[in-house]
Amino acid sequence: MKRAEIIAVGSELLLGEIVNTNASYISEQLSKYGVSVLYHQVVGDNAIRMRETFEIARRRSDLVIVTGGLGPTADDVTKTVLSDLLERPIVRDEEAYKTIQRFLVSRDRPMNEGDAKQADVLYGSDVLQNPVGLAPGMWISGETSWMLLPGVPSEMRALVKATFPKKLSGATLVSESLRFYEIGESALDDAVKDLLNGSNPTVAPYAETGEARLRVTARSTNESTAREMIQDVKTEILKRVGLFYFGSDDETIASNLIRLLKREGRTLAVAESLTGGEVQSMITSTPGASAVFLGGVVTYSDELKNRYLSVSLDTIEQHSVVSKEVAYEMVDGVARETRADYALSFTGEAGPTSNSGRPVGTVFIGVKTPSGIEVIERTYPHQERDVIRMRAAKDGLWQLSQRIKKANKCS
Ligand code: ATP
Ligand code: MG
Repeated sequence: MKRAEIIAVGSELLLGEIVNTNASYISEQLSKYGVSVLYHQVVGDNAIRMRETFEIARRRSDLVIVTGGLGPTADDVTKTVLSDLLERPIVRDEEAYKTIQRFLVSRDRPMNEGDAKQADVLYGSDVLQNPVGLAPGMWISGETSWMLLPGVPSEMRALVKATFPKKLSGATLVSESLRFYEIGESALDDAVKDLLNGSNPTVAPYAETGEARLRVTARSTNESTAREMIQDVKTEILKRVGLFYFGSDDETIASNLIRLLKREGRTLAVAESLTGGEVQSMITSTPGASAVFLGGVVTYSDELKNRYLSVSLDTIEQHSVVSKEVAYEMVDGVARETRADYALSFTGEAGPTSNSGRPVGTVFIGVKTPSGIEVIERTYPHQERDVIRMRAAKDGLWQLSQRIKKANKCS
């Protein structure tokens, strides 16, 4: 299976009403099996253009995965178009038909033509029964193999998960994304340069707002060997840049901090101006955050900073709201009010124009630990508003994690 192509069907995709997340999901999954995706196509619910799209795909690809248009309505024409192209008649699949029947009985609804149509499949195809919906998928092997999947993302994913391991087996590809903070992308590249040329495992760098990743991918006939191969490279990488590593795959800077706090049995509170709740949102998207996160406030105006956090209006007037002094009083105030063991505060100038007199990109982060309060100054010059806010949020969470780790080492 060499060249794969994905075709997403649906006029809403062309109109921009929905984003083609199915294609990116399928591509990502195919890459895990070492299958290269060379083309994505999107086509509306129109039989003539759909046929053209399918013909192009058949000429250039070994595997074509089509998502969407398997439903009950008249505009769902994927199956008829492919049936004409491959000259395979449409037949009814008994098992899918029974699933639909059972579903309708449970809803006390009669079966109409559209419902029944969902049980139609191309003759000779391998029917992929749908565990979470009604329309089954199909796999049709041939010089070009076709896979038809429903458009509904949860149904599409369920069928991909059930089918890919069987159909695309052979070598297993396992990968782990190692995530780093505070080390620039180029410094990270330099540190592991010699490892970037390997062919198995491969090591590939990626960057995102303030973060850097190394994706390590190993290929083997079985998963456990591939994992061991990854582990060896990971050990070598962490030997060099382990200081900046905070976790793998889905671990975030916030979830890492929460894990540290849980281990300590300590609590956290946050006071935000600049970041407007972003930090608390990052924290609360982590499952289990409630064990350590007490809460916090978003105090955007001077008045609310004063009322909820006892930031003195004199301090604001003297030093401006974007200042070390205000960050200090904010973090002090939120820690007092909540009695949290640890606290963070954020004030800064996100731009595009400066309101405080400080240059755009100036940020002060208050960090309270049991050993005292510290204010960290950061500047993110020439950055967009949202980048400044995001960087500040991540920096604060990271700085606190670092302090907890350091304190642990000393004790
Ligand atoms: P249904 O039985 O719901 O009609 P279907 O196989 O005909 O399923 P579509 O009608 O094309 O699928 O899509 C159903 C819904 O799934 C769409 O309204 C959309 O919300 C979502 N969807 C479809 N295609 C995609 C895609 N490529 N990426 C993300 N979401 C999609
Ligand atoms: Mg539909």
